[in-house]
Amino acid sequence: MFSPTDGWVTCSFGHRHWGLLGAAGLLVHRDGADGTELLLQHRAVWSHHGGTWGTPGGALHVGESPEHGALREVREELGLLPEDLQLGTRSVDDHGGWSYTTVLARPLRGIEPADLRLDGESDGVAWIALGDLASVPLHPGFEASLTRLHDLLF
Ligand SMILES: [Zn+2]
Repeated sequence: MFSPTDGWVTCSFGHRHWGLLGAAGLLVHRDGADGTELLLQHRAVWSHHGGTWGTPGGALHVGESPEHGALREVREELGLLPEDLQLGTRSVDDHGGWSYTTVLARPLRGIEPADLRLDGESDGVAWIALGDLASVPLHPGFEASLTRLHDLLF
């Protein structure tokens, strides 16, 4: 769906990012049998950094809080509803001229990837244990923020 905030921005680090007002995503985490697990999205091959795993999310719309934007995106991309999730703290990755806000969330019901309705931006979604993150290709922005996010997960 078109938004007037759709567009590319070059941040102060020289990266290209999507979203004229920045972007936000939702980091859904749960306590799994082998420790903390994250609900990550496998980005469609045609998309920016396609083929990598990261948090579902996208460009913020005008007047939208990061929490609202992240919830809107997971509804569009995964079919998750606000009542499925308990929001937690947020973490801002500020690149200068562009920022990505990660909103933490815990599931309020059992969320199984097979039950989710994915739109065209995802090739798949999975719970991935923190200890297994090194074995999959991660979105570079998500990977760069992992150390900071890691401290918020416990
Ligand atoms: Zn950047």
